Amino acid sequence: MAETARCPRIVIVGGGAGGLELATRLGDKLGKKNKAEVILVDAQRTHIWKPLLHQLAAGSYDSHAEEIEYLAQARWHHFRFRQGKLVGLDRTACEILIAPLLDSSGREIIAAQRLAYDYLVLAVGSQTNDFGTPGVQEHAICLDSPTAARHFHERLIDACLRAQNLPVEAGKGRMTVAIIGAGATGVELAAELHAAAHVLTSFGLEHINPDTELKIVLVEASPRILAALPERLSNAAAVELRKLAVEIHSNERVVEVSESGVMMSSGKFIPSTLTVWAAGIKAADGLHEIGGMETNRLNQIVVDTTMRSSGDERIFAFGDCAACPNGAGGWVPARAQVAHQQVGVLAANIERAIAGKPLKAFHFEDYGSLVSLASYSSVGSLMGSLSKGSLFVEGQVAKLMYWSLHKQHQMALSGFFRTMLITLSEWLDRVHRPKIKLH
Ligand SMILES: Cc1cc2nc3c(=O)[nH]c(=O)nc-3n(C[C@H](O)[C@H](O)[C@H](O)COP(=O)(O)OP(=O)(O)OC[C@H]3O[C@@H](n4cnc5c(N)ncnc54)[C@H](O)[C@@H]3O)c2cc1C
Repeated sequence: MAETARCPRIVIVGGGAGGLELATRLGDKLGKKNKAEVILVDAQRTHIWKPLLHQLAAGSYDSHAEEIEYLAQARWHHFRFRQGKLVGLDRTACEILIAPLLDSSGREIIAAQRLAYDYLVLAVGSQTNDFGTPGVQEHAICLDSPTAARHFHERLIDACLRAQNLPVEAGKGRMTVAIIGAGATGVELAAELHAAAHVLTSFGLEHINPDTELKIVLVEASPRILAALPERLSNAAAVELRKLAVEIHSNERVVEVSESGVMMSSGKFIPSTLTVWAAGIKAADGLHEIGGMETNRLNQIVVDTTMRSSGDERIFAFGDCAACPNGAGGWVPARAQVAHQQVGVLAANIERAIAGKPLKAFHFEDYGSLVSLASYSSVGSLMGSLSKGSLFVEGQVAKLMYWSLHKQHQMALSGFFRTMLITLSEWLDRVHRPKIKLH
């Protein structure tokens, strides 16, 4: 009897902004027709789109209502899901090594496992880079995962309740949140916290009024906030933040974080109740030279423009964990917009690799940057085919465009009709729930 050919197995590790879209697309295209077996591996059970983490931290985003269950997504889109953390790679055997899965009390749920692949895609994202600054790990919260964002939210509510009963010191207020790093994450968090504190005030915590008693401080080593974005955008965001009484310290490098505050190289000390580190990213240390692969100083897997790794034609990497050339001598930036665009080319390239065809290069089309300033405003610059040159947008237009970024991600995962239903339920939910999560 003739042996039937086994369909190739594609293992995607990391179900984030890029990985979950890729698993969904490949599942619908190849898994459904049994042309490939698609397996997604993620350390978590549910997916939250990372650009929403600052809202999760402030409490304005209800993750439990909106996060996506990997198992359900897998069932609906013809791929399999395996929960577990990637801890190693055996390229000779074409297997990944997954750590044992433990419950909250440390008991084993699933034993350590080796999972074979024909094609492997690494999409494990990035984490905060503290550049070895003393005290960050012990005393600051790094806003790089849903767990960290939830932890920050709990500490925020605790600190607000505590501050409510503290005597106010003249000129000092009751509570200070110091945010280190005024890139998009830091700036968005500052505005979101101001809005959250206003809502909390209206729920009876009147002693943490953000206009008088809650101080929000942004510390940035560059001469201006949003240093990676056009100067006009950065100036507009600074104007909006100053209207919210957010204190901005630019040109200040943090040298130490302690329980009581933040020390700068200039000798200035900012006392803080809560400190958030949002200054820089790197791929996880566990990725460094994993399986003998080439990685850069940020632990990112070095790939070519087709997203294929430099040393192994069966391994691809994309999103934040990959160093992908931009064709102009640099690298594509670590942004959700990049990961989203890479999905289309990578899905096609995997099909091409299976068929033995040459792969296509990825070209990043920068449509600009949008920065959300909570319910107050948004600022952004549009580029590429949406405008000739660069177009500055602000206010309601920018807010609508920022909102549409998340909708694009939802649409890639759930299709048009389901996204409309999700949007409707989000609106209904907002009518009967407090605007801020109060626990
Ligand atoms: C607060 C914040 C705001 C942001 N705002 C914007 C924005 O407005 N616009 C924008 O373009 N970008 C924004 N970004 C950046 C954007 O979120 C990232 O560029 C994007 O999420 C990268 O996608 P990814 O798929 O590479 O990784 P991620 O989305 O980070 O997903 C990685 C996945 O891998 C899983 N994982 C990690 N390690 C392992 C392991 N060892 N084993 C198994 N699974 C693992 C994680 O659980 C996660 O599901 C923001 C980031 C943050 C933190």
